[in-house]
Amino acid sequence: MEIRGHSLVGFRDIAGSSETFPAWNPATGKPIEGDFHSATQAEVDLAARLAHEAFAIYSRVKPSDRGAFLRRIAAQIEVQAEPIIERAHLETALPKARLQSETGRTCNQLRLFATVVEEGSWVGARIDRADPQRKPIPKPDVRSMLHPLGPVVVFGASNFPLAFSVAGGDTASALAAGNPVIVKAHPAHPGTSELVGRVIRACVREQGLPEGTFSLLFDAGTAVGQALVEHPLVKAGGFTGSTTAGRALMDVAAKRPEPIPFYAEMGSTNPVFLLPGALAARGKDIAAQLHGSFTLGSGQFCTKPGLIFAPEAAASEAFRSEFRERVAQSQPLTLLTAGIRKSYSAAMQQRSNRKDVRPVAHGNRANSVGAFAAEVAVFETDVPTLLAQRDLELEIFGPSSLLITFSSKKQILQAAQNLSGHLTATIHGTEEDLRDFAELAEILKHKVGRIVFNGYPTGVEVCHAMVHGGPYPASTDGRSTSVGTQAIFRFARPVCYQDFPNAALPEQLSNENPQRIWRLVDGEWNREEL
Ligand code: NAP
Repeated sequence: MEIRGHSLVGFRDIAGSSETFPAWNPATGKPIEGDFHSATQAEVDLAARLAHEAFAIYSRVKPSDRGAFLRRIAAQIEVQAEPIIERAHLETALPKARLQSETGRTCNQLRLFATVVEEGSWVGARIDRADPQRKPIPKPDVRSMLHPLGPVVVFGASNFPLAFSVAGGDTASALAAGNPVIVKAHPAHPGTSELVGRVIRACVREQGLPEGTFSLLFDAGTAVGQALVEHPLVKAGGFTGSTTAGRALMDVAAKRPEPIPFYAEMGSTNPVFLLPGALAARGKDIAAQLHGSFTLGSGQFCTKPGLIFAPEAAASEAFRSEFRERVAQSQPLTLLTAGIRKSYSAAMQQRSNRKDVRPVAHGNRANSVGAFAAEVAVFETDVPTLLAQRDLELEIFGPSSLLITFSSKKQILQAAQNLSGHLTATIHGTEEDLRDFAELAEILKHKVGRIVFNGYPTGVEVCHAMVHGGPYPASTDGRSTSVGTQAIFRFARPVCYQDFPNAALPEQLSNENPQRIWRLVDGEWNREEL
């Protein structure tokens, strides 16, 4: 497959504007040969119009055909895995083994959504049959189910060039629900985006689906993304990235004459609570594993543990000395982009200059190695300082974490109570700790989307029960998830049919129930025909 640097607007390759941008190699800090053309407003319009036209057909494609389409994309990504991984490695400097497993995750995710669509019960069919004899007024026949929304614009993040990008979770869930997708390619991995985009486009053709089912647009800046969110024919958005960008795009979506749902999964600092019993029993192990977790992917995970609450020194010495040692021995790690490195260096400088935090340890200095390399660093403060300086809770993207000392149970509960929304929270404790700190999990369930017990927040299982979201600012809508099959509900809305003749109903609501899906009939779940 060739990389041409052209936007893929339906079945057309369009060079767009003369403004171009290169892909960068984070290992060398040099541009990779071949430029990418930013899309123009005309291409934004064309992609939206084609998607709108496609919606009328794609939203009514049989569930088995929609499932086949998702399976075909997964199979074709596997066929093209080698060049895709090669290019992703060049553009991100992420290890090939990691990219290999991310490819597997991306394909499994597509297949998981295929099973959900093929089985069919996700539409949540409900039927309340008529009772013409009811007094004082007859009861109507009322039936409802979920229907797709329309064209969805998808923004991927830099740190998952496959699983949260062109064929990632947002694309899979939006396509599964029956919506055409327009992806705004991430400028940190444009070549990878184009290769995956070409695979999806070929599958659209092969499956005989309408042209506008999928488009991919490039942009050197933010204009194309904003224009897509503003476009009247776009009906929803899915975003993964920073809180700043997610919030800006959410505001654009809300300010439209017709506001649309905009689901942004954003940054998070993922507090970890180390309770005394757990530290006494396995302090050294926790230190080693926590170090592995916050430096994983060079600390560029939305689930990175960035706030670590631990008891005062005497109660956590084994943990602290091992943690300090591991940080001090850390080698510099390569970051994804020059921009991320610049922000990380500025944040580290700012932390070093503060009087209310102190360094726990620094890894080896980064200036002698790779262009986008950064040093591992951990700082320390206490709960009263955290409560007074709310900026300490904000995400720093890169291999750094903040250790926060608590001196009493009251302090740790107060800290938890004052947290803003995060994607995850983690508790390390024994059974006795859990009894002593029973209120902690109660508080945390109102603060995050996922609570981890005696584990680490990095690594998000793609499954039916997963929740990867959380109250604002972790996401723009804490009622939803971007990972796992429940993500399909973001891109659908309920429609009710009252007193419709059986022949005019969607088959999921018909008396015959040909797919044998689960339905709530007169208050009871069953898979029968009526
Ligand atoms: P980013 O800078 O927010 O970029 C994400 C996308 O949004 C890019 O395509 C970017 O294009 C675009 N964008 C940024 N500002 C915009 C604006 N004002 N208007 C329109 N488009 C805009 O994020 P990133 O650096 O790629 O990713 C790192 C962040 O993602 C971290 O904060 C991490 O925690 C978060 N993340 C969250 C999850 C999750 O599931 N919650 C998963 C992975 C990562 P340009 O680059 O051209 O501006």
